[in-house]
Amino acid sequence: MKPDEILELVKKRNPNEPEFIQAAEEVIISVWPALERHPEYQSLRLLERMLEPERMISFRVTWLDDNNNVQVNRGYRVQMSSAIGPYKGGLRFHPSVNPSVLKFLAFEQIFKNALTGIPMGGGKGGSDFDPKGKSDHEVMKFCQAFMGELARHIHHRLDVPAGDIGVGGREIGYLFGAYKKIKNEFTGVLTGKGMGWGGSLIRNEATGYGLIYFAENMLQEKKDSIKGKTCLVSGSGNVAQYAIEKIIHLGGRAVTASDSNGFIYDAAGFTQDKLEFLKDLKNNRRGRIKEYADRYQCEYHALDPNHEVNPLWNIKADCAFPCATQNEVSAKDAHNLVKNGIKVLSEGANMPTTIEAITILIDQGVLYSPGKASNAGGVATSGLEMMQNYMGTFWTREEVDAKLVGIMKNIHQTCLAAAKEYGKPGNYLVGANIAGFLKVANAMRAQGVV
Ligand code: NDP
Repeated sequence: MKPDEILELVKKRNPNEPEFIQAAEEVIISVWPALERHPEYQSLRLLERMLEPERMISFRVTWLDDNNNVQVNRGYRVQMSSAIGPYKGGLRFHPSVNPSVLKFLAFEQIFKNALTGIPMGGGKGGSDFDPKGKSDHEVMKFCQAFMGELARHIHHRLDVPAGDIGVGGREIGYLFGAYKKIKNEFTGVLTGKGMGWGGSLIRNEATGYGLIYFAENMLQEKKDSIKGKTCLVSGSGNVAQYAIEKIIHLGGRAVTASDSNGFIYDAAGFTQDKLEFLKDLKNNRRGRIKEYADRYQCEYHALDPNHEVNPLWNIKADCAFPCATQNEVSAKDAHNLVKNGIKVLSEGANMPTTIEAITILIDQGVLYSPGKASNAGGVATSGLEMMQNYMGTFWTREEVDAKLVGIMKNIHQTCLAAAKEYGKPGNYLVGANIAGFLKVANAMRAQGVV
């Protein structure tokens, strides 16, 4: 089958799933040179097989809110690929969660996990439950009801979920407690656990830190660095917070952060003190980003949820780090970034840049890295947490951070080498997709038609 025929098949099989089709299209087009060089992969239909989840579970989650009203949500787990290791990927709790979003995330996760060099397959899950505005007690009740069903389908050697949007340390704690109670066993079935009960140092920081390590590698390739660079960051959750922290460590200036209501522009840049305020605001008080602007007297811009152009991406800067959600950088945003002389766009979120926007950035010579490469530090450190759990050991902060630095460097080199080998030197998108694809394809070929 040719690439357009595979895409047609995906569209026919998955109608009304725009996010999954978008992720599939990006991969199908960019891995095609590898399939042309290896016709045997075409006859084994490896790409078509990767595009079909090995298993997908959908289940009802019923729980009682604080007023004793019955609430009904939908839960999912997509077990996409186990070719190179147990299914691995986060859980997302957000009203926008549906099969299309989770299948795109699980599909991307296959290649990301392969790039880390740690044996992990691809998966993703979550629910349309919205933790925003819920009491701690309601979040706990929901997590227990969700795990009541999910526990039947996961295991520390089979499928190891982690956090994602709406699932942080609090939720992982409640989910882990529920699993332990149901299964009567203490195992590393989830990652992102707390220190003192199986968690790994640096896991919390890993996605944001890894993102900036990756961008630093890209800049160093051009004999440049983050030092002195003005950086745009979107989001204000886990990934955004630690991206900002590492930008500060490396001498850059992070000037923006956002949530689903709007964004702040602090031209003086974040300091560690200001960042601690943001962390407390978002992680403990669960407030809105506008409070930051009120506290530090900087600009706040409310955002219409249906905005076509995001003014955050029209601020003059050197580097852009989208760290909120999918499709948050449109073609018009990409034009604005290019017009303002952006040098790097490195994805912290999963698929935050539309296909049209990616084309504009690459054509205009911007150093662009896809999330499956630049945000892989999170899942890589989850892999390190799994290793520590298996071995019954605990590594120091310095040890885990050094491993993370090494893994991001290795992913960067792997992307560059694959891009060069397949005739697209410097193209991180092609490099990441081909390198990830080949690793999984080789494993699938060895394991037969299963
Ligand atoms: P968090 O829930 O901690 O933070 C998400 C941030 O994005 C919040 O600021 C949230 O605002 C904002 N946001 C979420 N949805 C939307 C939306 N529809 N429109 C505008 N803003 C939105 O999530 P993470 O930081 O963990 O995840 C961010 C991204 O990074 C996601 O794409 C995730 O898949 C990806 N990622 C995360 C990893 C991790 O280790 N956590 C690993 C790899 C990728 P608000 O507070 O208003 O909801």
